[in-house]
Formats: sequence, structure tokens, C-alpha cells
Amino acid sequence: MEKVLITGAAGFLGSHLCDRFIKEGYAVIGMDNLITGNLKNIEHLFELEQFKFYNHDVSNFVHIPGDLKYILHFASPASPIDYLKIPIQTLKVSSLGTHNLLGLAKAKNARIIVASTSEVYGDPTVHPQTEGYWGNVNPVGPRGVYDEAKRFQEAITMAYNTFHGVETRMVRIFNTYGPRMRLNDGRVLPAFIGQALRGENITVFGDGSQTRSFCFVDDLVEGIYRLLLSDYDQPMNIGNPDEISILEFAEEIIKLTGTSQKIIFEDLPVNDPKQRQPEISKARSVLNWEPKIDRAEGLKITYDYFRSLSDEELYAKEHNNFSNYIKR
Ligand code: UDP
Repeated sequence: MEKVLITGAAGFLGSHLCDRFIKEGYAVIGMDNLITGNLKNIEHLFELEQFKFYNHDVSNFVHIPGDLKYILHFASPASPIDYLKIPIQTLKVSSLGTHNLLGLAKAKNARIIVASTSEVYGDPTVHPQTEGYWGNVNPVGPRGVYDEAKRFQEAITMAYNTFHGVETRMVRIFNTYGPRMRLNDGRVLPAFIGQALRGENITVFGDGSQTRSFCFVDDLVEGIYRLLLSDYDQPMNIGNPDEISILEFAEEIIKLTGTSQKIIFEDLPVNDPKQRQPEISKARSVLNWEPKIDRAEGLKITYDYFRSLSDEELYAKEHNNFSNYIKR
């Protein structure tokens, strides 16, 4: 069996990628330090012989015995609230961590895909965002620790590609949602659904005119899978171009959940991008990929998932205690 290493395996995207690669017939090594990840997301895989879990922080040297076919580097905090709580780890995992994994890819002659982000475009002045746009990022703002680490990640990944001849792939991920998201990481969809489930008001930041474009996780995973198997080594946007304002999005969630709560307006976070929409013609032409699941369908699946959780599971989703958090 060919072996795949997936970092961030206990996280939202990492766990779905583990499922996909198991389904495709690979042996999967899942790696996570469980700071923001949760073993619940992958506990169904523990009984499988072809799945192994390593509790490890990839910012430190990564040792894997034997051969590796692919490495998927998806470990990183990924929400503005997390960056504020763990800014140094956020910087390290996409810089030192990426360096370690590129070194591992080189040593094993493995192909590596790194998770980049629409945040490399910052608060964009080009709309929709094409891969050729270089971005508008504030390096010292609250998002700087994430945005600049991801920009460095792309730079070092390209350098390993050109200098060492490592086979690299880079996916720029736009807002993605689906089952297994945490309810307490501040991201808008779990925030709204959590508020609806608890009978609280729905908090729209600013006037809600800022836009996002939400991709359902299964579509994203399909795009990542195709990109990894392709021979395309430049950054590629994967996301759903269906753009919506946050105020309209709040109204959709109210309708979906049937909550009787109201929308309340709170301060807009610093450097919150005003608009975001992926331009995906590259993915369409190179990968023959486009999203298939529209927001109505994806939101229903996601809401049904959260509703199916027991009180205990919901509590765990809301109270990530950062118990492994060491301040360094
Ligand atoms: N947002 C909001 N209410 C919330 C949480 C987020 O209005 O309770 C807004 C946030 O200000 C941003 C958008 O929703 O404009 C998406 O936020 P998220 O943190 O999910 O992702 P990102 O800003 O990184 O796209």
C-alpha cells in the first residue's frame, strides 16, 4: 500500500482528507499536536490497520519510517480568534513546519501539497481574486501571523521546487465549511449556527456588507485531490465563487435554523477583508474541477450534522481548552 502523511489530521480539513485517502486505498499516517484539532474527528479511523496517528508538532523535526508517496501539510490554526490566542505557533507551523515537511519530502522523494489560503491576498484590491494577484496584507495586523506565514510557506515551497526539484503543489483555500468544524473558533458559519442552537442573537460584525464565498468541504477535498495528482506546481485557488454578504448569510442561517433570535451588530475586527471571491478558471481548465454542492444543500448537511451531536459532543465542540498549549 502506498503511504500518505497528512498533517493537521485531527482538524476539520485534515480529517476529511484522511477519509478520502483511506477511501482511495492508501495507508494514511495522520499527524496532529491536538492544539486546535480533536481526535473525535478521526476516531472512526483508529480501528483501521491502514491508519496510524502520531501526536506530534511538525514545527519540530518530523521522522517517518519507510517510504512516503504524498505529504499533505494541513496543520495550522485557521481562524482569527486562534491567531490571537496562539500567534507564535501559527507562525511556526507554516514556516518551520513547512520547512521540516519539505525536507521530509526531499528525503523520501515524495510529492507534497501545502495548504495555502485566500489570506495571501489580504484585504484584496482585485476582485475576484486571481492567482496572479500579489495581495494586500498588513504584516503587523492581527492576521499578519497567519497571512505572512502562509506567504512564506509559498515562497519556501517554490524554492524547494526550483532548487531541490521537489514535486510541490500549493492550494489557496477560500472559506470552507461543513461537518466537523469547531463551534468556538470564531468563524462565521459555526458562530451563527452555534448561536442559533443556543438561542442567542446572531452577531454580524460591522454592517455585514463585507462578502465571502463559501465552499462545501467535499468540493474542496475533490479539488485538492485533483490538484495533488496533477502536474501543476503553481498556486491554485480552490473555492466556490458564489459570493454573499455576511448580512444576507446571517439571514440564510436564521431561515435554515428557524431561530427566533435577532441579528445584532458588533464591531468589525481589525483588517477584516471587505470582499472575497475566488477566480477559479485555472481549476476549471487544469483540473476540470468546479464546486458541485450549492450553499442551500451544503448548509443543510452542516446544520444536520451539528443538530445530530449529543449535548456532550456539542459542549466539546464549544470548549476547546487549548490544554496542550505551551507559550512558545
Ligand atoms: N463574522 C461575523 N460574525 C461572527 C463571526 C464572523 O459577522 O460572529 C464575519 C467576519 O467579520 C468576516 C466574516 O464573517 O467578515 C467571515 O469571518 P471568518 O472568521 O469566518 O473568516 P475570514 O474573515 O477569515 O474569512
